[in-house]
Amino acid sequence: MKFFDCNLHLDQFKSPLSVIKEYFYFNIKNIVSLCDDINSFTFLNQLLSLKKNIFLGIGLHPNKKYSEFEISSILDLIKEKVDIIGECGLDFLRKFNSLKVQFRYLIQQLKIAEKYDKIVILHVVNAEEEILEILSSFNLNFVVFHWYSGNIQYIEKILENGYYFSFNKCIINFKKYQKYISKIPINRLLLESNAPYKYKGTITKPEDFPKIIETIANIKLIDVDQVSKILYSNSKSIFINKSKNDEKTYIMKNPTLDDFLS
Ligand SMILES: [Zn+2]
Repeated sequence: MKFFDCNLHLDQFKSPLSVIKEYFYFNIKNIVSLCDDINSFTFLNQLLSLKKNIFLGIGLHPNKKYSEFEISSILDLIKEKVDIIGECGLDFLRKFNSLKVQFRYLIQQLKIAEKYDKIVILHVVNAEEEILEILSSFNLNFVVFHWYSGNIQYIEKILENGYYFSFNKCIINFKKYQKYISKIPINRLLLESNAPYKYKGTITKPEDFPKIIETIANIKLIDVDQVSKILYSNSKSIFINKSKNDEKTYIMKNPTLDDFLS
């Protein structure tokens, strides 16, 4: 089995390279690492630019405050250099930013995503209706709802629009998430660690991935190897085949540790 982690925050670890190494040994062969500020992005980009199996994204996070200068720097970056915009979205639970500010960040980013055909990774909390309303006025090809937690009634609408969902280890223990999994077709599911996320007192770990796959296999009544293959190929079709960046347009059949660390 090999895995694709569609939402990791490498910048939040003391040593990103040792995390990548650990991930590699747990067969997590591809990583999407998302930042929410310019300094972390610049740091990771220098550190990882040659690593073909790692995809970096950046976005204006709804829960973060930015200076006008940083807003325009991030928007320029996603326009010109980055294929993945995320996390962006709406968070009506925490409301660290006013709704007005959150809508402004989101719409500015979606306009770029539409115009330049970018992948959008969404963080949405208690704002499912609002996000669907906004998304309906954009023509976006690749949208991922990261760690969806909203009412099950919106799942159908999200699926109709052709969007994807990524889930982490929350699906192992919680019935609520297991119900989502039974509703979402397997070809729209992706894996994420959201690491370093503190969950029940411990940080999410790459060791969790086989158990997440097993949970999905039990719900869907599909063999674990088959589940891991399908989820991997779902991720591949979004993050690899879509990528326009020549250096990263291919996937290595059997990447070695050197491919990550050279
Ligand atoms: Zn999030």
